[in-house]
Amino acid sequence: MIPVRGYAAQTVAVLGLGRSGLAAARALEAGGANVLCWDDGEAAREAALAEGLQIEDLSKDRAWVDTSVLIVSPGIAHLYPQPHPIVALAQEKGAVIDNDVGLFFRSFASDAWEELETLPRVICVTGSNGKSTTTALIHHILSTSGKPCQMGGNIGVGVLDLEPPRDGEIVVLELSSYQTELARALAPDVAVFLNLSPDHLDRHGGHGGYFAAKRRLFTEGSPDRSIIGLDEVEGRYLANLMREHHGNGEPVITLSNSRKLQGDGWSVFARKGFLVEWRRGRQMASIDLRGIANLPGAHNHQNACAAYAACRSIGLAPRQIEAALASFPGLPHRAQQVADVGGVRFVNDSKATNADAAEKALMAFDRIRWIAGGVPKAGGIAGLAPLFDRVLKTYLIGDAAEDFAAALGDAPHEISQTLEAAFAGAVRDASPGEVILLSPACASFDQFKSFEARGDAFVALVQAHEAAGVL
Ligand code: ADP
Repeated sequence: MIPVRGYAAQTVAVLGLGRSGLAAARALEAGGANVLCWDDGEAAREAALAEGLQIEDLSKDRAWVDTSVLIVSPGIAHLYPQPHPIVALAQEKGAVIDNDVGLFFRSFASDAWEELETLPRVICVTGSNGKSTTTALIHHILSTSGKPCQMGGNIGVGVLDLEPPRDGEIVVLELSSYQTELARALAPDVAVFLNLSPDHLDRHGGHGGYFAAKRRLFTEGSPDRSIIGLDEVEGRYLANLMREHHGNGEPVITLSNSRKLQGDGWSVFARKGFLVEWRRGRQMASIDLRGIANLPGAHNHQNACAAYAACRSIGLAPRQIEAALASFPGLPHRAQQVADVGGVRFVNDSKATNADAAEKALMAFDRIRWIAGGVPKAGGIAGLAPLFDRVLKTYLIGDAAEDFAAALGDAPHEISQTLEAAFAGAVRDASPGEVILLSPACASFDQFKSFEARGDAFVALVQAHEAAGVL
């Protein structure tokens, strides 16, 4: 835990008692603050009480007599569509609104750093898609290269649940737009902006607000190095902004998944499955990404470029990064190769809860036996029709089965109903060189507790078949 500094003997309120709220409350207490906690859900309040935290109804005036700071969890609206009533009350009472990320950056450096030879550094990753993958990939490259490192934020542990950094440690944080929008302090050494597509628009008052929330990591955070995807207009604007901001050094590494970036600056781009590092008018390195099992598809090549650039920024050599990319174990449930048995690959992409996400997986493979279905989202899979020729056959499960069958039309499919039956059908039909892909394009709640439970069930089926030597 990183004890929060600067609030000793002060009263601080914490709203929202999920993972990050509880971590904030504990870290504030460890720093000597008097912490008042609240969550609208009774179960969350009881869990906090059981941990010995102090519960106080923050919707009552009396909670604000001595309280001058409110720490808000990312799931709670602080601005749009409208502020949570407790946030509104806190503002009325003159309290400062902040979050765990703000507290982290205020508390990260400590007097103990005077003893350190190499100061710890922070790499922050934001973007609409690929944040978790890129964050985990950076962490994997650093750890396999022998660098002390930790990972947290929106992935794994909350920022204040990280350990105080050791000598030369690199902390890799995944940050969502909610987190970057509210944090009062942001001070990344390296900041990554992957991409931008419309998301969470209700919470940010539209697309411009969403971009503005992410932009704060750069404009407020003033990183020494900004790594910015140029494939959308916002990235091009931001790269330009950061370049001006810092003068003529090399403050920006640009990324692209679609264009060769061969200018005078520093760039990393992916073309036809190859990653290229380009610097001051010449190629510095090139890596073949095509055979890397757990980075399939162009979208993962963008993540690889970003992770490569981040690791180059902190001094790793291209060869070190190349070796580590190849051994990336993937993140569970995101186009994760679970096994290759007799030339048939099994891929768990249970996180694909909508057609956009499933599209990425369908583009990443061919000769696919596709397991899809569950609770459908608006629009279903009709938009994926141009990719149906990559699919040998679809095995449909859950509530969406009939609708998806209609959308598939003449494309080969069967209604399997359950994941077990779909799996058995795909295994029965598969030949070497094919991919059995769970990428449901649906939520899981008709048959599973969560997309994780659905992915775990798929992995268990793969393991059982592997163990039984059925394949
Ligand atoms: P996030 O943390 O931003 O939600 P993840 O790394 O968890 O992203 O990936 C979630 C899903 O988003 C993946 O399964 C894939 O379908 C898609 N995805 C991953 N990386 C990218 C990318 N760079 N561009 C577009 N889509 C991506």
